[in-house]
Amino acid sequence: MKQVQWSNWSGTVRANPRTVLHPTSTQEVVKIVQMCRQEGRRLRVVGSGHSFTPIAASEDCLVSLDGMQGLVHVDAEGLTATVWAGTKLKLLGELLFRYGLAQENLGDIDVQSIAGAISTGTHGTGRTFGNISTQVVGFTVVTGTGEVLECSRESHPDWFRALQVSLGTLGIIVQVTLRLEPSYRIEYESRRVTLNECLKQQARLAEENRHFEFYWFPYAEPCQIKLMNKTHQEAKEHRIKDYFNEVLVENTLFGLISELCRKLPKASPYVSRFSASQVPLGRKVNHSHRLFATQRLVRFNEMEYNLPVEALNAVIEDMREELSRSKFHVHFPVECRYAKGDDIWLSPAYGRDSAYIAVHMYKGMPYEDYFQAMERIFLRYGGRPHWGKMHSLEAAQLKELYPMWDAFLAVREELDPDGILGSDYTGRLFDSSGAVFNNLLFL
Ligand SMILES: Cc1cc2nc3c(=O)[nH]c(=O)nc-3n(C[C@H](O)[C@H](O)[C@H](O)COP(=O)(O)OP(=O)(O)OC[C@H]3O[C@@H](n4cnc5c(N)ncnc54)[C@H](O)[C@@H]3O)c2cc1C
Repeated sequence: MKQVQWSNWSGTVRANPRTVLHPTSTQEVVKIVQMCRQEGRRLRVVGSGHSFTPIAASEDCLVSLDGMQGLVHVDAEGLTATVWAGTKLKLLGELLFRYGLAQENLGDIDVQSIAGAISTGTHGTGRTFGNISTQVVGFTVVTGTGEVLECSRESHPDWFRALQVSLGTLGIIVQVTLRLEPSYRIEYESRRVTLNECLKQQARLAEENRHFEFYWFPYAEPCQIKLMNKTHQEAKEHRIKDYFNEVLVENTLFGLISELCRKLPKASPYVSRFSASQVPLGRKVNHSHRLFATQRLVRFNEMEYNLPVEALNAVIEDMREELSRSKFHVHFPVECRYAKGDDIWLSPAYGRDSAYIAVHMYKGMPYEDYFQAMERIFLRYGGRPHWGKMHSLEAAQLKELYPMWDAFLAVREELDPDGILGSDYTGRLFDSSGAVFNNLLFL
């Protein structure tokens, strides 16, 4: 037990938890929940702290499952594995690979914990894939009453769909069983086209490729297209080329020019155009878990919204217009991805095939005006915010976006009747009228 200062990856959220605990077994997790109940304390569980909002922050008891990582059980024939919930995605990929298994899809980075990624509906790209929560077939959870619950779609259909994206408010997930695929290799291709061309082709590219996404640099004509497809070609590590492209160009050089923009914000449009022209192009082949993830050494703030996929082009056109009107100082690209609709109650992709649009701002540069303007556009098209990324919505607005909102709250009442698993921030999302938070940053 030790007291520390805590901050998230971007450094925007800081907290001073009274207690930080690192359990190493389910029984220890149970004891922590019982202790909080007896002493009338509240707790939050944290994964890798890679959410941009205070969703994992606690001023009281913060629980980390870093000491609960690794495989519990593998069923290679049945293509499932049960893993400790604190397992980081990078480790998970390598452990599964030893058994000839892999996750069907992943996001941009692999440093999150599996439970943290699931709990916010973290996603990759691909029209035929749901977010990572859709890969879950079973949970073991210590609920807010301290009970250990084994839960699957078959055993507890309602609790299961609530737990699939639950923001750490229903219980502490201690184990997760995942649906997997035999391990596979991916061919990655990066191309450059104009934004207009990209918008003309995007629906077809999303249809024809297993994974497709694009990066649009504000104020620049060229945008980057990324395509990823399964291949039988041999995996090849290009250590020097990858180091040059991923570390030197995408991180070191980009970090230096980002500092220039912070000191001289008016340079942002020029820097954005320069970055668009320097995007590394080409192809590479590797095992899926090693190819999905990229290194993110340059820190930033981010807002991402889920939108009905049919709205994508119209939203981008509105964003482009707003940028040319308001001339925000931004040089970070806009990232556009795809996901299949699902039936998870608090999943942003609930009930609709989706596009995700993410806007970023270099750490230390003001983001509020830019994010607010973009959020207004997203909301006009029925956007739902990513739970781990910045947004300004509160309970009353969120309730309107989620048809199963009240059903989720009912499960919360059952699994955490005394509200042990909460914080002021989760209060803003689920309970508050909003008034208390009007002076807070856009988070
Ligand atoms: C550089 C960067 C890149 C990113 N790329 C993507 C991307 O490609 N796609 C995408 O969708 N998102 C992306 N994100 C967002 C990120 O995936 C999510 O915010 C994710 O939730 C972070 O995982 P974490 O382990 O850090 O969880 P945390 O941020 O620590 O926690 C997130 C939530 O999970 C809950 N939680 C954690 N562990 C448990 C547990 N054991 N039981 C119950 N609840 C738990 C917490 O209470 C909290 O509510 C990115 C973030 C960064 C900083």
